[in-house]
Amino acid sequence: MTDNRSTMVSFRRGSQVLQLRLHHMFLDAPESVVRAVADYAGRGHRNAGQLLDEYIRGQQPLIRQLRRESDAELNPLGRCFDLRALYNGVNEIYFQNGIQARIGWGRMPPRRRRKSIRLGVYDHQTREIRIHPALDRPEVPAFFVEFIVFHEMLHQLFPSSGRMGRRVHHPRAFRERERTYPHYGAALRWERENLGTLLRG
Ligand SMILES: [Zn+2]
Repeated sequence: MTDNRSTMVSFRRGSQVLQLRLHHMFLDAPESVVRAVADYAGRGHRNAGQLLDEYIRGQQPLIRQLRRESDAELNPLGRCFDLRALYNGVNEIYFQNGIQARIGWGRMPPRRRRKSIRLGVYDHQTREIRIHPALDRPEVPAFFVEFIVFHEMLHQLFPSSGRMGRRVHHPRAFRERERTYPHYGAALRWERENLGTLLRG
């Protein structure tokens, strides 16, 4: 049994033995899944592989998440905005409290000339949202910060789809849902008109 993060099933065939390494999620696996493991490793059945993929996808919460050193510093409390409060409100109003993530202010990047700015980022591995500290200022309207938080939360709901190495970071369903945000138009307008100020940091 393993507590791996990426390899859930692996096997090695010896002359006399078949050696299996399985994530501990398989300890509670139903009979059909255990059979699929045998079919997959023993006879290389393709259908068995699909069944295993489905099972593993359903057990995602059991997979150990990567924890980084900087996680301890994930602080939601800024000078102007409490991201945790914003997050909780958004989660209740727009997601029926269905999003599970941690949130905090990102680190202020080194000062240099920037052409673009990433106002938020969502990490699927750690389920963490980081918001750019440039937004923690009194002249930034709350609905705009809330919109960025909303956007990052959507990433959990609509993971980027990958087709042969081409990542679609914001799938169509993501964009459609994003437009339902009540201040969507105002948020885009505010960003357009104030991006210069944000870039100057
Ligand atoms: Zn995004």
